Amino acid sequence: MTGIEREVVIVGAGPAGISAACVVAETGRSALLIDDNPSPGGQIWREQDRHGSDWQASHWLRRMHLYRVDVMSGATVIDGDPGRRAIVCETANSVSTIRYKKLILATGARELFLPFPGWTLPNVMGAGGLQALVKSGMPISGKRVVVAGSGPLLLAVGAYLKGQGARVLAIAEQASWSRLARFGLGLPKQPYKLAETWQLKRALFRVPYRAGAWVEAALGGTVLERVRLRVSHRYWEAPCDYLAVGYGLVPNIELAVSLGCQLSGGCVQVDSMQQTSVPDILCAGETTGIGGVELALMEGRIAGFSAIGDRLNAQWLFSDRERFRRFARRLQKAFTLREELRHLPSEETLVCRCEDVSYRRIAPMSGWRAAKLHTRCGMGPCQGRVCGPAAEFLFGWNCQSARPPVFPARIDSLIEHVDK
Ligand SMILES: Cc1cc2nc3c(=O)[nH]c(=O)nc-3n(C[C@H](O)[C@H](O)[C@H](O)COP(=O)(O)OP(=O)(O)OC[C@H]3O[C@@H](n4cnc5c(N)ncnc54)[C@H](O)[C@@H]3O)c2cc1C
Repeated sequence: MTGIEREVVIVGAGPAGISAACVVAETGRSALLIDDNPSPGGQIWREQDRHGSDWQASHWLRRMHLYRVDVMSGATVIDGDPGRRAIVCETANSVSTIRYKKLILATGARELFLPFPGWTLPNVMGAGGLQALVKSGMPISGKRVVVAGSGPLLLAVGAYLKGQGARVLAIAEQASWSRLARFGLGLPKQPYKLAETWQLKRALFRVPYRAGAWVEAALGGTVLERVRLRVSHRYWEAPCDYLAVGYGLVPNIELAVSLGCQLSGGCVQVDSMQQTSVPDILCAGETTGIGGVELALMEGRIAGFSAIGDRLNAQWLFSDRERFRRFARRLQKAFTLREELRHLPSEETLVCRCEDVSYRRIAPMSGWRAAKLHTRCGMGPCQGRVCGPAAEFLFGWNCQSARPPVFPARIDSLIEHVDK
């Protein structure tokens, strides 16, 4: 096991982690940015390092290179010990202990998947997941795609896939027109969001956008063949090659929880300086609440200033952060998930796809712990990352537990880690 030491270590190289690292590195302090992807950028700026077209991404990635932020890509933080101010990080062929004076967690979010009949068929994917595959080179040109679920990500994904030559048959948003209209009325107060929405709408010209619509079933033998949507009281069915479906985002809190950070409303709790309940551990971006790229950047910068003890510069950004948080709260209200989605799974629908556990077996359980003990739900490779949030939504359980290693790790990494 190798040992590394830095003043500030940042986990997660999305917008929040990159902006935090830049703030630290610009003052000449040593900053190490760790991320499990092959290159920095996180979810939204994936592959921007190689063929970037987003001005914001280019700006921050250039800044990161200019100030020589030390980046460790393809590295997963699997454990940590706040008492020793150390984290354990695994790469393809090594495991290292990294010591820090300050640790910033910017581990982002993942998509929320809700089970419905056929959701485990090949070619049914997460909306952001399909986008990520296409960004990584998967051909989509000429393929028929239905995008469904909830939230602004559906528009971004639909526009991106259409731009790559896909035939986007429909975008199905579960929120009702009335909720969307109320949300839309507030957009002029956020001119940059209005412009973004307008751009997406233009990119999606002639793609039907159905509000109050959701996937009832994905149909097919060994692979997806058709999708059935419910649109208010009617049904709409169409053959398609891919179904991209996501019901919003879930914060990646597992590492923070295993380090002892307190939660509030399912997100990592932070104070005004982005400080968590554990000394010397800060948190920024979607891990503290789903709010979009602007909020992630702002929180990352505040966490960076906070880590180097620059309170004054951090405070300058508080009002902007509050503006973005207000927008995030409106977004959350507009895209609240509807009751009908709780009743989509049939008795046979798998809820935990790692361990093949059906709805019928899980539903009678008294809670998440009982479900794990009696059915092995949440005990597979994803360790409840997919079925945990789904079970929270379906049954109202609290599924927020985490223990090291927070990601699947090699046996030799664990042995070395225990022996250290
Ligand atoms: C699949 C997906 C697609 C999205 N697409 C869009 C889009 O097209 N447009 C848009 O506006 N918004 C999109 N979003 C939302 C967008 O990602 C956020 O608004 C914002 O960019 C979040 O920034 P962040 O820095 O908080 O997190 P992220 O960008 O999620 O970055 C967090 C990073 O931390 C890494 N990480 C997590 N845990 C560990 C660990 N233990 N060890 C090492 N690395 C770790 C993750 O792999 C990731 O690279 C998407 C979100 C998701 C989940």
